[in-house]
Order: sequence, then structure tokens, then C-alpha cells
Amino acid sequence: MTKPDEPSPTTVVWFRRDLRVHDHPALTAAAIHGAVAPLFVLDPAILRGRFASPNRTWFLLGAIDSLGIALAARGARLSIRVGRPVDVVPAFARDVAASRVALSRDYTPFGRRRDAAVARALQRDGVEVVAEPGLLVHEPESMLTDAGRPSRVFTPFLRRWMAADPRDVLPAPRYLRPSIDPGGPTLPFASGDIGDLDVVARLGTEPPTADPAALPRTGEEAARDRLDAWLAAGPHGGPAGYASRRDRLDDAGGTSRLGPDLRFGLLSPIEIVTRVLSADGASVGSRRFVSELAWRDFYAHVLFHDPDLAHSPFQRRFASVAWPGGSLGDPPTDPIGAGAADAWRAGRTGFPIVDAGMRQLLATGYLHNRARMIVASFLSKDLLIDWRVGEAHFMRHLLDGDPASNLGGWQWAASVGTDAQPYFRVFNPVTQAERFDPDGDYVRRWVPELRRVPLARLQAPWTMTSDEQIRADCRIGTDYPAPIVDHAAARVRAIAWFRDQGSAPPG
Ligand code: FAD
Repeated sequence: MTKPDEPSPTTVVWFRRDLRVHDHPALTAAAIHGAVAPLFVLDPAILRGRFASPNRTWFLLGAIDSLGIALAARGARLSIRVGRPVDVVPAFARDVAASRVALSRDYTPFGRRRDAAVARALQRDGVEVVAEPGLLVHEPESMLTDAGRPSRVFTPFLRRWMAADPRDVLPAPRYLRPSIDPGGPTLPFASGDIGDLDVVARLGTEPPTADPAALPRTGEEAARDRLDAWLAAGPHGGPAGYASRRDRLDDAGGTSRLGPDLRFGLLSPIEIVTRVLSADGASVGSRRFVSELAWRDFYAHVLFHDPDLAHSPFQRRFASVAWPGGSLGDPPTDPIGAGAADAWRAGRTGFPIVDAGMRQLLATGYLHNRARMIVASFLSKDLLIDWRVGEAHFMRHLLDGDPASNLGGWQWAASVGTDAQPYFRVFNPVTQAERFDPDGDYVRRWVPELRRVPLARLQAPWTMTSDEQIRADCRIGTDYPAPIVDHAAARVRAIAWFRDQGSAPPG
């Protein structure tokens, strides 16, 4: 801490996926050190890159706005710059005469390459970089096996993860000493008046693809409200009811819906875990909920230790196989593949549960976890389409689209990942639907053509007789598509294909 008569050393706090003031180790460290110059860089490489998403850009801009307000209330002004961080961050550090740049460590291959380049540029200017934790519960280096190797299997990872104490939750700093004024654009920003920082024009971003009415409130305050509501949901809801309700597709309160808040760091995962366990640590539901946050760490660690996974699957023999249903940029070699990827994306496969999920994703930027597993199994196994087609589609639309968790989920579902679903487990879309949408509410909500179909036929509407189709006002092939594959035959085909790729037979 500086004495009142000393000039205050300035730290730039470079925000990225940590758009909050609570439990933010880099911000707290900077506040203790001296003056704080908060910065957010809108990086075209992300906003227009491989995983660009208008939904996430919208959520991000609102979250930046809300962060700016929280910082201003504490005395510091958030500066917003557009450009390549390797140019922008050192220039900004010079503008505010900073001796340090503090940030929350990023674990993705892209983030690590970017941060290393920025650190080299800053070091040339004599500016120190301080990387603090903040995005995960446990750091990748602290979760190695007894042999000192990265964990590849979730169950032992979870045991180690549960046994380790996370660091203490930090309060939001009450006061931030401002740096010298860097000038340039600041707030308000996403809220309309963006002054000379014309983000839409300069970055070519589009409006959200999801229905605006379905998008959640963004910003740290909204995220904290969601967390409070989730924790206060009572004995049958929230974490306590999670184990029994989490798989019900039609149960809106069965899961936390905190995915986008975690994705952009509006909430600290350590704060969530600490609050859940201290409120109700003994319940099965709470422990199950916390273990899902361990999956989030697990996939981030796996990608951290093996950055090549971003482009080729954990089971490397699948890196360059030709998927019969086609790949990104490669047309299908199999008649089933023609048009199938488009039908899957649009929710027109003729399998109600798959179509409901894909339409929920398009309309809301969210997809229930069980539905993610069902639609991913359908794409990669029933259609034998390269899982990367699905990975890219999810990254375009999901508000919580995260490079590590999405990659992990897809490689799991396609049986090409670490600790993956065995290849011979091919989800049956009809029995999955009967189990996890037993009243048909989820399908009826997202596939309105099927609203009048009786429950006994709802999940397999092609089994309706002509009379039943007339009574339900739903002619298969006209009002609703006929199934694009025969699931039983597709399952046999998928298992044979995986065996041909060298996957060991069961048992
Ligand atoms: P909850 O069930 O309330 O869980 C709380 C939090 O725990 C989630 O918000 C998430 O941060 C974490 N979490 C839960 N399950 C998982 C999991 N299996 N893997 C990693 N983290 C988990 N999750 C993402 O955050 N981003 C993705 O891009 C993503 N893509 C996926 C793709 C596929 C094919 C599959 C099968 C799963 C994917 N998941 C992804 C995991 C999971 O589906 C979502 O985290 C979850 O549905 C988000 O809803 P929720 O916040 O209500 O979750």
C-alpha cells in the first residue's frame, strides 16, 4: 500500500472473462497496490473469429456496461478499446503510466498465446504482468495425479478436486484509487449511446440471433440475483433438488442457468461452490451440483494440458478420419448425410426430441444439458457427421458457449474424447424423450406442429395412422418431417463404423 504523499503506482486491470468486482483476485491485488486503470479490449479476432456469436457478443456488451457502472461506483473508470491486445494493452499502459498489468489467468490455447504475446510486448516497456487465478475453482497445476501427470479420468479428478480447499472468497473492493485519465471512449456503451466507439460498424457484429424476449438479463448484478434465487429455491428446488430434477427437460428450475454468468465471469465459481457447500454441503443435490462445476474445471484442465485438443480429438485416431455424413468443409460421402446437417441445425430431423432441442437453442441461446447430449449423439452417431460441425453450431448460438466445455461435451458425446461415452452407447431419441420428457411438455413447447399429437405417439409421430394424423392436424412429411434416418439401422451402422476406426468391442 502506498503512503498518502507518495505517487501511487498504477496497475492496469485488463478484464476479459472475469467481468465482475466480487471475488476478483487481480482487481483486489491492484487496489491494494495503488491506482487502478480498468481496461476492456474488444478484440476482432474473437468477435469475428472462428467462434463468433452474436448472442454472446450481446451478452458481453451488456456485461461490460454493468462492470463499468460497478467500477465507477468505486472510483475507477473502465476504458474500452478496440483492436489487437498486443498493440492496445501496451499503448494503454503507457497512456496511464502503469508499471503493472494485472489479469485473471486464461487457460485456453488462444488465450495463452495472446497473453504470452502481450506479456512480451509489456516486458519490452518494463511493465510487469501479474496473472491471478479467478476463472476456475482449482488451478490446473494443483490437480495433477500422484504421478504428477494431468488427470484424464473424471472420477479420480473429482475425488482430488472435492478434497482440496479452494481459496477464500474475496469481497468486492470498496474503493479504487483512479489512475490518470487515459481519455477515449467509456460508458454508456452497449446501452445505445456508444459515441465515437461505433462497435457495430467497426466490428461488423450482428444483433442476437435468439429471440430478444428469451435472453437473460446481463451483468454482474443480474448474475448475483440469479445465484441468490437459485440458492434460496427451497428444499425441492435449487441445489437441494438438483440431483432429482436436473435431467427433466421441461423443468425450467431444475438447473441453475448460471452457464453464461460463469462463461463471462460475472460470478466466481469459487464463490458459488463456497456458498452452496456452506448452505447445504451434506445434501446429495448440492454435492451433485458442485460436481458439475468440477466438470467445468476438468475440461478446462484437459485443454490446458493438451492444447492440440482444440483441433484434434483426444482419441487421435479420429483426427483425420472421413466422417461418412460429412465434416466442416467436406461434403458427405454417404446418402444419409446430404442435407442432414442442415435439417439437424434447423430442428427438422423428424425426431421430436432432437428438433425441440435444436429449436430451443436457436430461439434462446440455451439448450438443456440432457438435450445437448441427445442432439450431439444424434449428429455424431445416427448421422455420422463430424462432431466439429455440431461444436461450431453450438459455439455460434450458445450464450454459455465455452471452448473447453463445449469441446469436452462434444468429444464425450461423439465417443472421441477423454473419459468419453462408449461408442456403442447410441442414445435412442424416442426412449430418451419418454424418460426425460414424460409428459411431452418440452416437445409440445418447441415443436408446435405436434401440439395435438396424443402423448402415446408424440415422441415417434411417424407411427401415427393416417386417421390419427388427420385428427392431430399433423400430416407426417407435410406438416412435420418424416424421420431422416431409421434409428435402429443407424445405430448398427454407427457401431460398425466406430469398430472400423479401431474402437475396441464392448467387454
Ligand atoms: P447446471 O446444471 O446448473 O450446472 C451449473 C454449471 O456447471 C454450468 O453452468 C456449467 O458451468 C457447469 N457444468 C455443468 N455441466 C457441465 C459439463 N458437463 N461440462 C462442463 N461444465 C458443466 N457447458 C458450458 O458451460 N459451455 C458449453 O459450451 C457447453 N457445451 C456443451 C456441449 C455438449 C455437447 C454437452 C453435452 C454439454 C455442454 N456443456 C457446456 C455442459 C452443460 O450442458 C452446460 O454447462 C449446462 O447445460 C448449462 O446449464 P446450467 O447453467 O443450467 O447448468
